[in-house]
Amino acid sequence: MSEPLLIFTDRGICCPAGGFYIDPWRPVERAVITHGHADHARPGHSSYLATENAAPVMRHRLGDIRLETARYAEQRRIGDVTVSFHPAGHVPGSAQVRVERAGEVWVVSGDYKTADDGFCEPWEPVRCHAFVTECTFGLPVFKWRPQAEVVADLHAWWRANALDGRFSVIGAYALGKAQRVLAALNSSAGPILTHGAVEATNEVARAQGLPLPPTVRVTPETDLKAYPGALVVAPPSALGSPWMRRFGPASTGFASGWMALRGIRRRRAADRGFVLSDHADWDGLNAAIAATGAERVFVTHGYTQIFCRWLSEQGYDAAIVETEYEGESLDAPAEEEAA
Ligand SMILES: [Zn+2]
Ligand SMILES: [Zn+2]
Repeated sequence: MSEPLLIFTDRGICCPAGGFYIDPWRPVERAVITHGHADHARPGHSSYLATENAAPVMRHRLGDIRLETARYAEQRRIGDVTVSFHPAGHVPGSAQVRVERAGEVWVVSGDYKTADDGFCEPWEPVRCHAFVTECTFGLPVFKWRPQAEVVADLHAWWRANALDGRFSVIGAYALGKAQRVLAALNSSAGPILTHGAVEATNEVARAQGLPLPPTVRVTPETDLKAYPGALVVAPPSALGSPWMRRFGPASTGFASGWMALRGIRRRRAADRGFVLSDHADWDGLNAAIAATGAERVFVTHGYTQIFCRWLSEQGYDAAIVETEYEGESLDAPAEEEAA
């Protein structure tokens, strides 16, 4: 019996037969990266392989790295295995990594969401024998409404605030969520302003051809009177910071899966919570795992204990693996989110 196709080490998920790591958190020779978020695409590796759609954000964040790219579904021979990327539906360019050796297939999901948001490449199920999955929102309480309904709520909130002569400031993490929200908005509803951290990522997205509505970056020189009733998109950490003072008595909201929890909503002291996540909800996780056909499931981050026990009860051969990945964050500093 040969070594398992993937093994879990203190550097990250390792493929010994291919001589590479997937989303390693310590420096390695050869890193295969699922997507550009900071907990998955870290600095310091000798070489990187990622999707061509993930590359712009990775170069923006990591600078001059040795980065090779592949298209979705393109097959690469690395050592004794075949590697390919498949859409994860999480952020533009995000991928699940499929690794095959002699008919045995393992898939590492990275972060994923099963619902199509109309912005990033929609998630696709990949058949496999073993599936490595996140479970950021792996509790039944997490059940997402369709995006169109949430966005309609957001428009109604924005409109009401504009009628009252107030700005609407929405906290959405700068890499992914902010662009998804922007892309879903009806930009004829009013002017849209952005925090610098959001605008930095917008520029990367626009440069790679992703459709975003016009936005105006807020600087100390911006004459806010020229944008009455504007919607302002900022990283979550900017809400409640001195940066907010310029908007006067603005209405505030967060766009996050965590807004499904009343306690978190209250603690964040936002006027509104919009439940919008780039991760799968409970039903999404279960449907995704079923669609892989996998018998073995490894859970990496999120509500791992509960979710792993649930999967075992459903008859899966499930186990928790320790990783350094993080779920959806409301607390990353703005600089980090900009990065
Ligand atoms: Zn992510
Ligand atoms: Zn993550």
